[in-house]
Amino acid sequence: MKNIFLQRIVRDVKNFIELEKESGLNEVMLKSIQKRSIKASSYEEPCFAKNKTEALAQLKDSVLNCTECALSKSRRNPVFGEGSPDADLMFIGEAPGLQEDIQAKPFVGKAGTLLTKIIEAIGLKREDVYIANCLKCRPPQNRNPLASEILACREFFMKQINIISPKLICCLGKFAAQTVLMSEESISRLRGKFYNFENIKVMPTFHPAYLLRNPQDKRLVWEDMKKIRDYLK
Ligand code: URA
Repeated sequence: MKNIFLQRIVRDVKNFIELEKESGLNEVMLKSIQKRSIKASSYEEPCFAKNKTEALAQLKDSVLNCTECALSKSRRNPVFGEGSPDADLMFIGEAPGLQEDIQAKPFVGKAGTLLTKIIEAIGLKREDVYIANCLKCRPPQNRNPLASEILACREFFMKQINIISPKLICCLGKFAAQTVLMSEESISRLRGKFYNFENIKVMPTFHPAYLLRNPQDKRLVWEDMKKIRDYLK
């Protein structure tokens, strides 16, 4: 009898944790991120790099040697990001998946193929933009990022934004949008509008992996991408 009761409690706790994971960043996670976050521009440190390429190479070195969180033990490779250091447009995704973890490159799986098509649809090539993720290491079984992992990696992607200084950041999916904008709102509410992140415009849109599961929403992403194209004209 006691055993059944205990099993139920364990099941309920498990269900609660699953629900929490599905809903993205919650108030507690955000508060803990906000408490320890500082402005992106504050991450600028005395840098002896001659240019953006060198600054990115130095930052990549720190990412490759990072052991700030437990993901450093389970990852095959950290995925720093890639693209043009002079890009006007930067895409920020959630975290590397299996293919990214193997190849050490962002967005190289099925979602990546779709992202490349989205980039080309607005008349750009993958090499023209910069692509990075909130987390540099793959969470096991592609589970959602934890607040502690986002915090551990935040400094890296803030520095990356600082070095590249794009005109516009396109946040792919709820985690990127919520992390950059420090918001609890759902991606359905955030997407399609411009926001300011320090001096950079931000446009959140649906994640390509979501679009693979919900192709009917591709037309909404196309609306968002047209706004991005027009802003960059
Ligand atoms: N999903 C992401 O958010 N990032 C990747 O690099 C790949 C899939």
